[in-house]
Order: sequence, then structure tokens, then C-alpha cells
Amino acid sequence: MATRVPGPLTGTAAPAVAAVEGLTRRFGERTVLDRLDLEITRGEFIALLGRSGSGKSTLLRALAGLDDEAEGGLSVTGSVAVAFQEPRLVPWKRVHANVTLGLAVPDAKDRADAALAEVGLTERAGAWPLTLSGGEAQRASLARALVRDPDLLLLDEPFSALDALTRITIHQLVLHLWSVHRPAVLLVTHDVDEALLLADRVLVLDRGCIAHESAVPAPRPRHRDHPDLVSLRT
Ligand code: ADP
Ligand code: MG
Repeated sequence: MATRVPGPLTGTAAPAVAAVEGLTRRFGERTVLDRLDLEITRGEFIALLGRSGSGKSTLLRALAGLDDEAEGGLSVTGSVAVAFQEPRLVPWKRVHANVTLGLAVPDAKDRADAALAEVGLTERAGAWPLTLSGGEAQRASLARALVRDPDLLLLDEPFSALDALTRITIHQLVLHLWSVHRPAVLLVTHDVDEALLLADRVLVLDRGCIAHESAVPAPRPRHRDHPDLVSLRT
């Protein structure tokens, strides 16, 4: 595998992994996304904030190619993977089978083994989803996303149902995975601290478009410098 260097990929030549131009989504009379523009650069970590019902999940569904009815320009380069708030594991398939589900590559099994090892779930590979803790289920969900080697990883409030300590561990894991694999990440969260901790760029969705945007100033309290994370890497 090529050596990938953590840190934002900057410069005008940084290629876009997704470009959204004038994206509009209506549900009946209601316009939820209203000519929204957004460009996601390869390898960047974005946090998307916005009040409940502002259209965050709608935007993620469009980016994931799960919405045929959105109008406007949307182009995504490369592969996309999604992890939701509810891990959405198929209960009658064991963890390993959940990770390889729909993955049509010859080395699916090996890839799943590697992804499960990376999220620390090797020992639970044969377990049934309903026997997992919340944190383990979210790890399995991350492994299922990771195994697809996405260029764009969409995380829709994946941490909000976790207890505070588990959430910290999963934050570290996500930053670790991001720094190793370098997908662009678009993380929906309600938690401003979480956004500032994890992201390079914070966006606020309001009235159908990106109403506010700011780069997270350095130095920032990144978990990737946290001693636990350093030990996780070694
Ligand atoms: P958020 O994720 O920011 O909480 P959503 O994107 O889930 O918001 O929803 C934005 C708005 O669109 C909400 O008012 C929601 O009720 C509406 N909405 C989402 N999906 C549908 C749908 N399939 N049919 C009708 N309305 C929907
Ligand atoms: Mg939502």
C-alpha cells in the first residue's frame, strides 16, 4: 500500500471527490435542500452541523446515490460508503458476513478479516449482531464501510447513541482509520465539540443550503495526537 501522509491535502490542485452544485430536494411542498453547493476535497474531514430536520441526512443520501429524486448537479468520484447512527447490521448474518455483504470482490473474506482486525473486532467476527454492544456494533458498521475502501466516507451521526467513554474510543478509531486510509469524511453530528475535535472544516446546514462554513483553526485538540491513539497505532 502506498504511504499516505495524514494532514489536509491543500493547494489549488487538490482534487474534488464530490461536487454538488445547485442541489435541490423537495418533499411535496417542502423544499429541504435549496440549490445547495458543496465541494468535498480528497482526504479532508468535514463535520456537518444543523438542527434536526434541516436536511443533513437528505444530503448524505443524495451523496450516497440513494436518492433518485434530488435535482441539480451532483458528481462523486470514486467509491462511497455510509455508516448510520443505527449500525443497521443484518441480524441473521454473523458479523463477518455483515462486513462482506454485497462486496463483490475475490478477496472479500481477507479484506473483511483485515477490516475487523483494524476496528478491534477479530474476536467477534463469528458473533450475531444482536449480541454486540453498541460500541461493537458501530465498529462493525465502520468495518463494513472500510472494507469498501471508500474515497468518500459518509457518517450520519454514528456516535450519538454511544455512551461518552465508548464515543471517545470510537472517535480515536475513526481518526486512526482516516489517517491511515485517507478517505474524505463527511460526518453529521449534533455535537459542536465533536465537530471541532475531528474535522478540518465545519459546515452548518440551514434553510436548505450551507449557511456557514469555517476551517478549524490549528492548533486544535486532535485525538490523533492523543497518547491512547498513538498506542493504538503501535
Ligand atoms: P436531518 O437529518 O437534518 O435531521 P432529514 O434530512 O432527515 O433531516 O430531513 C429533512 C426534512 O425532510 C425533514 O423535515 C423530514 O421530515 C423531511 N423528509 C426526509 N425524508 C423524507 C421523505 N422520505 N418523505 C418526506 N419527507 C422527508
Ligand atoms: Mg438525520
